[in-house]
Amino acid sequence: MGSVITMGSRQPMKDLAVDVAGAVRRAQAHVDDGDLHAALSVLRPVLTAAPLDATTPDPDVADAARIAAGALTSLGETYSALIYSDYAHRAAAVLDKPTSLRALRANLVHAFVLRATMHLTEAVELYHDVVRHLAERFGSIGRPTLAAQADHAVALHAAGQCSEATGLLHRTYFAHREAFGADDPQGIRMLTKLGTMNLDCGEFERAHQYFDAAKALCSEHLRLPATDPLARQVVTAARASSNADHVCGRPAESQAGLHVRDLFVSSVDLDVRDLVASALDVDATDPFVSALELITSGAPVSLVADPALAQDASLVTSSVLGHIGGHLNIDGSGSYPFTIDATVGSRLGLSYVQIRIFAPGADPRELAA
Ligand SMILES: [Zn+2]
Repeated sequence: MGSVITMGSRQPMKDLAVDVAGAVRRAQAHVDDGDLHAALSVLRPVLTAAPLDATTPDPDVADAARIAAGALTSLGETYSALIYSDYAHRAAAVLDKPTSLRALRANLVHAFVLRATMHLTEAVELYHDVVRHLAERFGSIGRPTLAAQADHAVALHAAGQCSEATGLLHRTYFAHREAFGADDPQGIRMLTKLGTMNLDCGEFERAHQYFDAAKALCSEHLRLPATDPLARQVVTAARASSNADHVCGRPAESQAGLHVRDLFVSSVDLDVRDLVASALDVDATDPFVSALELITSGAPVSLVADPALAQDASLVTSSVLGHIGGHLNIDGSGSYPFTIDATVGSRLGLSYVQIRIFAPGADPRELAA
């Protein structure tokens, strides 16, 4: 009798999981194409049908919820996103290690949604945890870690913890500059944000020192034209008046104009370590995995392209930037073959480059050939 009940309840769950996995793939493809509404219309029926019970989570439903939350957030529907980001966040905690890509992505989306829906204390706490887990995975000066740390500082400022916020962003900016150079665009955005925070706190002189430094980096070091989006962002921030609603030490009551594109972590420029980590869904027994672990641990790594596996990298018109094959050489460990596919596309009017790394034998192009 008991086994009949078990079978009866298990079977529909399995069918649902199959449907959800297909929907997740289709929704992700829509997100990659920049069609967020299409992604949501694919996900809505499966998320309505699935029980959003995070005590017995389904990995595909968790992914569906995270993608829906991200799409709704990007469309400004943060309050609608909250139920999904909350489920994705709690489900990932049951399903995976906090340093897994599923948990990191779900938690980053949820932290932003919490901030946007004025759950500022929870947002600050979650950012604090995510930064710690990103540091475990990418190192304390990894790009994703420092980007999330900058968002943590912004959340602290919204929560009214002004001196902690400016102190953290100041330290983050200098760590970033040390690691990636003064003319790195992400660092210039951090410098600009430091200016805005100081402006809101009434530190006008200091604010303009930051703005002037950011402007100088744009014009003198990067020689950006005034029409460049980064240069425009710096100039706009420097000309803006301070946020009249900000009272130091008091949590914000609203966050007018908050936009997902202003996040630091959403515009992380991936470097080799991060790129390789994003390809982690290879078989755990694959030698590639040990290479990935070494890379994420910060071992010295070099990439050597194999000309026999590389294609013309100038085919921008066909949206293919390059197809590179070669070996990852890891000091003291060995050499692992890989292929990288880089394509350029556009999403929400912004150009982006998508880079995919494949373990040996996993590249669909190689398999099709
Ligand atoms: Zn303040």
